[in-house]
Amino acid sequence: MARYIGPVCKLCRREGMKLFLKGERCYTEKCAYTRRPYPPGQHGQGRIKLSEYAVRLREKQKVRRVYGILERQFQAYYAKAARGKGRTGEEMLSILESRLDNVVHRMGFASTRPEARQLVKHNHILVNGKRVNIPSVVCRPGDKIEVREASRKNNAIVAALAQVEKRPMLSWLELDKEKFTGTFKGAPVRDELNEPAIREQLVVEYYSR
Ligand code: SF4
Repeated sequence: MARYIGPVCKLCRREGMKLFLKGERCYTEKCAYTRRPYPPGQHGQGRIKLSEYAVRLREKQKVRRVYGILERQFQAYYAKAARGKGRTGEEMLSILESRLDNVVHRMGFASTRPEARQLVKHNHILVNGKRVNIPSVVCRPGDKIEVREASRKNNAIVAALAQVEKRPMLSWLELDKEKFTGTFKGAPVRDELNEPAIREQLVVEYYSR
């Protein structure tokens, strides 16, 4: 599946918040949003009052960009969530969080989702002992995610794991850092997600208009 390959810091500036798409750089003074916390472009510093439609559009774009998904695939996730039994917005987040690239990132094997996506694409990750190189694969409860034996000295993976203690491990994941292995216990419910900045209801309202 295709992915966005343009400049990512512009996305943070457009959405008016840090989306943490560049790993360690996002926590330093070099962060473009820290230096220029206004939208990109000639009129970025002008005063813009967003319409109700624009607020919902921006929220949808933000969620899409956080998870690194293009519009058509995002619409497919939304449609799948809308067919589910639960609240559409929460179902959608559960599906997004269950994607393999997201799980690899959340477990701490990669410092960003784009990095996790690359690890999966480059065959560094095994799911239940089998090589899987499709980042959009949706994990199932009990799936064992591990770094391939030959990739355990990979600098990016080692560096990401060294930072893992700095963030709390999520209740729906288990990690054995020494063995480069983790378990996906099940798709998270909304309260288990540490994502206060995401307002999924606005995404639902955007697609329901
Ligand atoms: Fe966003 Fe700052 Fe990270 Fe760039 S460095 S991706 S602006 S948080």
